[in-house]
Amino acid sequence: MSLRAEREATPVDDDQEFRREIRDWLAANVTDDLRGAGGAGRENEVFEQRLAFARKLAAAGWSTLAWPVEHGGRGASLARQVIFHEEYARSGAPGRVDHIGVTMVGPTLMALGSAAQQARFLPGIATATELWCQGYSEPGAGSDLAAVTTRARLEGDEWVLTGQKVWTSLAHVADWCFVLARTAPVPPGASRHAGLSYLLVPMRQAGVTVRPIRQLTGDSEFNEVFFDEARTSRDLVVGEPGGGWRVAMATLGFERGAATVGQQVGFQQDLDDLVALARRTGAVADPAVRERLTRAWIDLTVLRAHTLRVLAAPPAVGTATVIKLLWSRWRQGIGELAMAVLGPAGIAAPPGDADVDRWRRLFLFSRADTIYGGSNEIQRGILAERVLGLPRQDRR
Ligand SMILES: Cc1cc2nc3c(=O)[nH]c(=O)nc-3n(C[C@H](O)[C@H](O)[C@H](O)COP(=O)(O)OP(=O)(O)OC[C@H]3O[C@@H](n4cnc5c(N)ncnc54)[C@H](O)[C@@H]3O)c2cc1C
Repeated sequence: MSLRAEREATPVDDDQEFRREIRDWLAANVTDDLRGAGGAGRENEVFEQRLAFARKLAAAGWSTLAWPVEHGGRGASLARQVIFHEEYARSGAPGRVDHIGVTMVGPTLMALGSAAQQARFLPGIATATELWCQGYSEPGAGSDLAAVTTRARLEGDEWVLTGQKVWTSLAHVADWCFVLARTAPVPPGASRHAGLSYLLVPMRQAGVTVRPIRQLTGDSEFNEVFFDEARTSRDLVVGEPGGGWRVAMATLGFERGAATVGQQVGFQQDLDDLVALARRTGAVADPAVRERLTRAWIDLTVLRAHTLRVLAAPPAVGTATVIKLLWSRWRQGIGELAMAVLGPAGIAAPPGDADVDRWRRLFLFSRADTIYGGSNEIQRGILAERVLGLPRQDRR
């Protein structure tokens, strides 16, 4: 049901009561050490406390709000999911440590996993007792994902994996990884998508080595992951062996959703704080800074309106892609603007000044925004072909 239809069907008072309920819960549970922790470029901050918070959130029934009741969720309407994410962001609650499980592999298992896989994994995801990471990208396979060379072969009752993944977010804390691996050669004349499988692989075993990658921000949010005869059970393939491409694409389809609205609440806070900083530093006297701050507000207003329009209507080709393009450029823009507001201090000040550290981290981390989740060049290519009907790019 679309957001608009839900609004018409649900009494407004109920949604307001729901908003009060989540707001009160967050006010009682977001402690000072958690507020704002784990944001962009700060993914390892107070990790244990954030994990404990994720478990509390789960125990109170908020974590898997959007999941159907039969899988341990609340079956919340889209309107309530939006309210939850708005209030979560407003309260300053910390970056989620369990989001890959809750928003990616959980929904994939509900849609395409076996009953046994659902029974084995959904409870651990819903309680944040098992954390997940995504093993797609490799040194030679990012935008061209079908080029993955990690291989898995069946040996008795187990898949045996060998290969390397890269940019694997949170692999250093994950218990499980969903891995796209080649399990059969490409049949003659078939596309390279054939023969790939979607395997669920335990991370804590001798055949798996995780090596953190230090990022521009100084943090190490993602990793290289090496599989050297790593093993997983034969039945932990999602969908058909060799049919993993469809499953992998389904997972990506679940990545974005109502959480985008919460992210935009955070963007508004960033913009408000940047305006306040520009007043303090005197940068507001610069007409160029004033214009850029105003443009940022206009662009955010457009982004929010477009997002609500997309959520309110049946999904149309390309509309979600436009959201990714707009928000990633918006956040990069605000990072660049923050550097202009800070002036030389943005580059030269030693670490320790909270304002400078915050904006410098945002500026540096946001370079990644146009890369992950499908690079902006790839997204524009999709729009060119699927929406404008331009000729397909030559691919093997
Ligand atoms: C912060 C962060 C977290 C990530 N987390 C994960 C994770 O948890 N798991 C995971 O599997 N991956 C993860 N990734 C990897 C991410 O999915 C890839 O970086 C992304 O798909 C791009 O692939 P690549 O880095 O190999 O770049 P490439 O594909 O090599 O691209 C390099 C450049 O060429 C451009 N390009 C490539 N092909 C085309 C084309 N056909 N047309 C036009 N331009 C093109 C790209 O846009 C890019 O600018 C993460 C990346 C980042 C930055």
